[in-house]
Amino acid sequence: MATEFDVAIAGLGPTGATLANLLGAAGLSVLVLDKEAGVFPLPRAIHFDGEVLRILQSAGLRDEVLAIARPGTQGMHFVNAAGETLLIRGGTAALGPHGCANNYYFHQPELETVLRAGLSRFPKVEVRLNHELLALEQDAHGVRFDLRDRITGNQIQQRARYLVGCDGARSPVRQHMGSALVDLGLRQPWLVFDVVLDEAVDLPTHTVQYCDPARPMTYCNVVGNRRRWEIMVMPGDDREALVRPESLWKLVAPWVRPEQATLERAAIYTFHSVIAEGWRQGRLLLAGDACHQTPPFLGQGMCAGIRDAANLAWKLEAVLTRQAPPELLDTYESERAPHVRSLIELAVRLGDIIQTTDPQLAAQRDARFAAGRPEIFELPPQMLGRGAFDEAAPDSPAGRPFPQPRLPDGRLLDELLGRRSAVIGRADALAAACPATLERWQRAGAIVIDQPAAPLSEWLEAHQARAVILRPDRYIVGIARTGPELDRISQYLPVAP
Ligand SMILES: Cc1cc2nc3c(=O)[nH]c(=O)nc-3n(C[C@H](O)[C@H](O)[C@H](O)COP(=O)(O)OP(=O)(O)OC[C@H]3O[C@@H](n4cnc5c(N)ncnc54)[C@H](O)[C@@H]3O)c2cc1C
Repeated sequence: MATEFDVAIAGLGPTGATLANLLGAAGLSVLVLDKEAGVFPLPRAIHFDGEVLRILQSAGLRDEVLAIARPGTQGMHFVNAAGETLLIRGGTAALGPHGCANNYYFHQPELETVLRAGLSRFPKVEVRLNHELLALEQDAHGVRFDLRDRITGNQIQQRARYLVGCDGARSPVRQHMGSALVDLGLRQPWLVFDVVLDEAVDLPTHTVQYCDPARPMTYCNVVGNRRRWEIMVMPGDDREALVRPESLWKLVAPWVRPEQATLERAAIYTFHSVIAEGWRQGRLLLAGDACHQTPPFLGQGMCAGIRDAANLAWKLEAVLTRQAPPELLDTYESERAPHVRSLIELAVRLGDIIQTTDPQLAAQRDARFAAGRPEIFELPPQMLGRGAFDEAAPDSPAGRPFPQPRLPDGRLLDELLGRRSAVIGRADALAAACPATLERWQRAGAIVIDQPAAPLSEWLEAHQARAVILRPDRYIVGIARTGPELDRISQYLPVAP
């Protein structure tokens, strides 16, 4: 009988690789498989946000990721055909709430390489490339699945207690589960291509969304000498002709000439906006593009998959170590789906602005924005849907990420907290907790920070809270303004029987 892994992960894209790192750091045994031999080479994600860096920090890869990314301090400008700015998504050089910049730019294959290298730190994480997941079947104790070695053609059978499909948009695991995709309305082909500049070229340092009805287009300053154009495929375009180098250079002729840059790759993608219903079925789970796809106008698709991984990792750990019942895994979809759905809907609204190809509608759009131009927006704070946190108080920050300030000793908060739950509160509040609560903190392995100095004390004051409880993924379980509230919200901490 082959080894039974705690978790099998189908797909070693950014979602699967992040999940494998987080589960590996938790000491679980993990089998990760991917049908391909290496990282996906075509141009895809170039932006991630501060929360994603914080998650990768929790996987022990902050410095490695920072070495391949640049902070996005310049924002994104929506410009019409006349060159007028319609809308600005602000950029800032200031540190954001996650203890890092709010936005970063990077090259997806480089990030995936860092994530894969990170796995070698964990002896209980086994990676099998060139291995395709075929059939799978679950029973009361786990999942049995067949793998095909694509080099030798051999088929083998494995078992795991849980299997997570991080197997991308076409997800065979999702198909096996029969989870339907709900279409949120955007489906449009775009040509995407990356160049590497060979000489200095006068290009904007911020991202530009050219809302030109004749040919909507996005220009991005990626990282180092890499630059990206995303160009809407128009009705009547010959797709084969469009990806030929001579067509590509013609499209970007206003900015760059062929002798100034090397064309790296070009591909036509259909941007989708879909979300699956049913992210868990017993011991099978979905994460990343397997359960949602977002048009890249906000640069959030991969970010959402990495957030899934963070949400799922501590819950799988709690269930597998019997600190929590398997039902905790039901809060994964109920928390994450509304969060990702609101970002997809926002991306679709931005897509509507950019993708307007009717000149009359474009003129109306421009006039609408001209009234209050240029409007500046930031991503609204996203909240988890119902789940493993205190939803009792409507004005509570529960269900949102706790900030990651730098502490007086120079450490970032999460460096102190590690992967544990945390109870942070004024000494008098913590001392008033009932004995059962104190025991629960201990059994949950929570770190208790008694009478914290600024900036944590300032956070408590600002929220008129005497204590706050955090989950291992750094989302706020709840705040306590009274002793009984502290006893009540402590019940959310998963504990061993
Ligand atoms: C043009 C473009 C621009 C984008 N820009 C951004 C951006 O700026 N920011 C952002 O956050 N996101 C962006 N995205 C989205 C981002 O690239 C994806 O959301 C992300 O790659 C999804 O990661 P994943 O790990 O969930 O899936 P994938 O990266 O698709 O990985 C799935 C893996 O599963 C493997 N697999 C599939 N089937 C099997 C099987 N049967 N057996 C074994 N392995 C299997 C595949 O080989 C693959 O490696 C962009 C996407 C595009 C197309």
